[in-house]
Amino acid sequence: MTASDSLVAGGLAASAPTPDFTPASGPAASRPVLTIDLDAVAANWRALQARSGKAEAAAVVKADAYGLGVGPVARALRAAGARTFFVAHAAEGATLRGILGPGVPIHVFNGFMPADLDAFRGADLIPVLASPFQVRALREALPALGREAPPKVGLHIESGINRLGFTPAEIDALRAEPPSEFDISLVMSHLASADEPGNSMNARQRGAFTGRAQLLHGLAPNARLSLGATGGTLLGPDFHFDLTRPGVGLYGGEPFMEARTVVHLHAPLLQVREISVGDSVGYGSTWTAKRPSRIGVLGLGYADGFFRLSKGLQLHLDGRPVPLVGRVSMDMITVDLTDAPEPAPGAMVEVLGPHQSVDDLAKGIGTTGYEVLTSLGPRYARRYVGGAAG
Ligand SMILES: *Cc1c(COP(=O)(O)O)cnc(C)c1O
Repeated sequence: MTASDSLVAGGLAASAPTPDFTPASGPAASRPVLTIDLDAVAANWRALQARSGKAEAAAVVKADAYGLGVGPVARALRAAGARTFFVAHAAEGATLRGILGPGVPIHVFNGFMPADLDAFRGADLIPVLASPFQVRALREALPALGREAPPKVGLHIESGINRLGFTPAEIDALRAEPPSEFDISLVMSHLASADEPGNSMNARQRGAFTGRAQLLHGLAPNARLSLGATGGTLLGPDFHFDLTRPGVGLYGGEPFMEARTVVHLHAPLLQVREISVGDSVGYGSTWTAKRPSRIGVLGLGYADGFFRLSKGLQLHLDGRPVPLVGRVSMDMITVDLTDAPEPAPGAMVEVLGPHQSVDDLAKGIGTTGYEVLTSLGPRYARRYVGGAAG
């Protein structure tokens, strides 16, 4: 893809080089710094909207916008043009309502559970009802909800992933006893293997979704249809229907390979020490120097969401790889700086950024980008650049 192609595609994301957000040198820091590039979030949404063709691209901001901070992220997405939002929990929806104000549709994937009545009442949320239990529960809660118009709801139908959603038999039961007290504005399902374009499960689920959604057409003539998350958006027009629901791609994660980097994480160098052959480093003495070595102690540990099982990982100092050595402790990690230029305390070492993406790190430790993002800890100094923060 050339630069101009990506512009035509609404891309912008594709060919822009990743900026280096190493925190400026000032007084030496003790805390790791998490930098979130809101312009990259906005560019990723625009690119996924372009990839959604005629469908509308919604924005999934559950789990505190995948750990990045729902306030700044949702405002940046709204400013970029996102008009429809999804969260997982009603409480997340209530928080998001406070951020976005009235009028923007906010859907709750986990549907309606009776304990969430207050959140639904106060924040005008749209539950994506996923079972006969939830339909009954919402019916019973209607007087307490106190809405004049029939409340908008979504329906989640099962198409093969076997998590949430109405089975064919439950769809039949729903048709036999239509929930006419609701305004069904969305009919959706979720793909199990959308990150694998060649997986035949995708076409099977698409077929099941189309057939089952048609059965509901009489009950929900105006409902919009939605099947694809980030992966489904990238599978092409057959998977777009009326609304796509990208999440991880907005935040720079796979399978959206052209995504712009959103997350930059730097850890401060607290101390540098010289050790001799045979000296060991860290709890359990798991690493022993085979040559005279210079060890850097960084202020970042598993209490910051950094994975304890990070053996073999590399970080970067001024663009040069520095290997992690010894165990990850609660507040510290240690790196081998023997081959790095002599760094001073306060130097910031890149953990995530242009040299190591969220997915690179995930692969290094045997997990997914989703888990790396949602594990980012609350102890970081957080810095938002671009977007609404600009
Ligand atoms: C989390 C979620 C999404 C977003 O998925 P990504 O893979 O992050 O794009 C979409 N739909 C449902 C039902 C989800 O739970």
